[in-house]
Amino acid sequence: VAHCEADVNNNTPLEVTTKTPAPEFKWHIFWEFVKPQLFPLMGAVVLAFAAAILNIQIPLMLGNLVNVVARYLREQTGNYVQEMRGPALKLLGLYGIQGLLTSGYIILLSRVGERVAADMRKTLFASLLRQDVAFFDANKTGLLVNRLTSDIQEFKSSFKLVISQGLRSITQTVGCFVSLYIISPKLTGLTVVVLPCLVGAGAIFGSFLRKLSRLAQEQVAKATGVADEALGNVRTVKAFAMEERELQLYAYEVDKSCEMNEDLGSGIAVFQGISNIALNCIVLGTIFAGGTLISSNEMSPGDLMSFLVASQTVQRSLAGISILFGQMVRGLSSGARVFEYLSLVPTIPLSGGRRIPYPSLTGRVDFINISFSYPTRPGQQVLSKFSLTLPPGKTVAIVGESGGGKSTVASLLERFYDPTSGVVMVDGLDIRSLDLTWLRGQVIGFINQEPVLFGSSIMDNIRFGKPEATDAEVINAAKQANAHGFITGFPDGYSTVVGERGATLSGGQKQRIAIARALIKNPFILVLDEATSALDAESERVVQEALDRATTGRTVLIIAHRLSTIKGADLICVMSNGRIVEAGSHLELLAKGGLYSDLIRRQRAEGKK
Ligand code: ADP
Repeated sequence: VAHCEADVNNNTPLEVTTKTPAPEFKWHIFWEFVKPQLFPLMGAVVLAFAAAILNIQIPLMLGNLVNVVARYLREQTGNYVQEMRGPALKLLGLYGIQGLLTSGYIILLSRVGERVAADMRKTLFASLLRQDVAFFDANKTGLLVNRLTSDIQEFKSSFKLVISQGLRSITQTVGCFVSLYIISPKLTGLTVVVLPCLVGAGAIFGSFLRKLSRLAQEQVAKATGVADEALGNVRTVKAFAMEERELQLYAYEVDKSCEMNEDLGSGIAVFQGISNIALNCIVLGTIFAGGTLISSNEMSPGDLMSFLVASQTVQRSLAGISILFGQMVRGLSSGARVFEYLSLVPTIPLSGGRRIPYPSLTGRVDFINISFSYPTRPGQQVLSKFSLTLPPGKTVAIVGESGGGKSTVASLLERFYDPTSGVVMVDGLDIRSLDLTWLRGQVIGFINQEPVLFGSSIMDNIRFGKPEATDAEVINAAKQANAHGFITGFPDGYSTVVGERGATLSGGQKQRIAIARALIKNPFILVLDEATSALDAESERVVQEALDRATTGRTVLIIAHRLSTIKGADLICVMSNGRIVEAGSHLELLAKGGLYSDLIRRQRAEGKK
């Protein structure tokens, strides 16, 4: 519990300070999604409206029927069946048409709702994928995924509900009130006084219940979060023998949610009980008051029947409207959250710009006078006046203390971010003038050696580097990356599905698949961001062998977190405080006796420990 509360305390102030005002619902964006579905939507509206009108007619027809029955009972003459047949058949017909209209509008409306939601999902996903890396630094992926799933779901349900129920409830309320008035102005007067009071009280009680329900739901989500974290990190939980404690944490949250849901249940029970009594009393009161009117011949029994049914319809409709109102508010805020990122234009466009024709492409890279801070942390200057040239076909390594800005250099070459000042050039052209999809997709190969694999087959994971690659190309790339051997050793070979994030492979195997994935696009420039965690000696040897093969004939930038692997580099640059302080070959730098030789000495000492 303590750990949980500490979490809450830590998070709350942060969230408060970073919370931006709630996004607004933009009707013009909504219109763009609705426009293609306009005809079915209008159809649905017309059908729903017609169904509602029929619903108003039905009480009146019921009244006619009752009048026939009453007359027959009173006079005991004529043919009952014959007299009933006309109105009964008409009523049956109305029921039939009403049913058809109802199915019709539900079919159309769910079609509209689903298509609008699917369109929104696709558009939002596309828009999210288009955003810069900086956007993802600033936004939690969990929350983004929520917008794609629950927010769109909520919006869709509200949209469908507001149109179908809203239209029906309003039409019926108005229509039935008119019929009530026509049937008996006196009784209607009475209802007009009583009903709104009841509905108002119901609405207040209802909003209280909804609040309880929301709190209970949040509590359930909190409990689920605890379970999710424990199951998701089950290895850590087991390694620390924390099963008991996790169970306690979960049990505490579950018990709390159980209690809240029980309270909610009791609240609903009381509400239902009281409203049943109230509604039944209304029926009784109406019959009582109607009875007096009948006895004074101001009303027929059939009218009373019509009145009862119509007033019930009004009650139901009014209750529906109050629920709908809450739903509409929730729907609009969900919609606003969905739309917020739709109109967000990334600062780094994915396409457009020049492509250098292959015969003249050399793969030279220049970083010129670059200063940079991350957009999420503008106060911290990571690079200052950083300059570096990667000559075509040469291997350049950057070393230096952890946190010194080495990986940042690689991110700038990939154009994950634009420098605050200075330029990055490929073949003498500012990369901001180049087509980014081409640059990332075909020119630069990026091997992050703590690689992320997707939960699909090994074949698909390698092909991720070049979607149009043939199986033979995939196998060839795997061979170059020293991966073919272990892949064919698996029972399913290249079809082996790697677990979530590659959990079923060893570190060295994942790295080699990542190398194959980068090699398959045959890049001119290769960026290796080395793993910070060490591999065992044997894995390191095969991975290194694969890398040596991969780097020949390419311009290579190695971000070295360990020094053992870069002795053969053409140029080694030592970074400190966001700029290069030493450069030269391994031997030159050792001879110089500066920072590099310090680093080497320190790593050797650590290795011996
Ligand atoms: P290195 O690769 O040399 O270990 P990095 O380039 O990863 O160093 O990081 C340089 C500095 O930039 C560090 O202080 C780090 O905390 C910060 N940094 C890295 N990535 C981000 C990011 N996405 N947003 C904000 N700051 C970052």
